[in-house]
Amino acid sequence: MATHTGRLTAEATARTSVSVHQLNRSFGDHQVLNGLDLTIHADEFVAILGRSGSGKSTLLRAIAGLDHDVTGSGAIDTPDSVSVVFQDARLLPWARVLDNVILGLGGPDTTTRGIEALAEVGLAGRERAWPTELSGGEQQRVALARSLVRAPELLLADEPFGALDALTRIRMHDLLRTLCVRHRPAVLLVTHDVDEAIDLADRVVVLDQGRLAADITVRLGADRDHADPEFGRLRAELLGHL
Ligand code: ADP
Ligand code: MG
Repeated sequence: MATHTGRLTAEATARTSVSVHQLNRSFGDHQVLNGLDLTIHADEFVAILGRSGSGKSTLLRAIAGLDHDVTGSGAIDTPDSVSVVFQDARLLPWARVLDNVILGLGGPDTTTRGIEALAEVGLAGRERAWPTELSGGEQQRVALARSLVRAPELLLADEPFGALDALTRIRMHDLLRTLCVRHRPAVLLVTHDVDEAIDLADRVVVLDQGRLAADITVRLGADRDHADPEFGRLRAELLGHL
């Protein structure tokens, strides 16, 4: 099994949030991750692109420490506080929105922090709603609030907007960008949407057959215009690796 220390080793630099070293993962005979190396710095927003089946979710689950039953080797160092957001919000249906956000947290100001987190994601006043009363986009906002309230140093997201319509997805991009500016977690976003990757990330890596096929820095300002020639150039370059 890969060693998963859950804590950065002393020799790792202070600015490193996650480091994955020579990670191998197999399901039976099928080698899904193949000697993979990846380092993400604190504050950095990295998107992982790759075709379906290229190992994106396997990598994210390994970093999240959710991968217990596959054989593999390598080392993964992560910060102590990690949050994960999936494609479906995975809210507890029997708990109200606020309770979903603060479930498992202790401390006297938990309720206040939960209310603040919901306000930050645009859901002020919906604290007592049930998850089923919310749209898909609103449920993902709750999932983001649930992550935020835990002040993660690292946010892992596996196609978090994949089930949303195009307009809602754009609003969620704006929200995620705002939250990242304010809270500065390192982010690893898995997506199969090239434009989403360029919209949000500082760096885009492409996974192909369990190896990194490309590692491209995005040199665009905060306001990213799909019609910008540099956006188009990056899109073409990334599509060439997919
Ligand atoms: P991606 O997220 O890039 O679409 P995944 O990481 O989910 O890809 O899957 C990569 C490969 O690993 C796929 O071929 C998939 O079938 C296989 N795989 C993933 N999880 C399991 C599992 N629990 N058991 C067997 N094979 C798996
Ligand atoms: Mg996946």
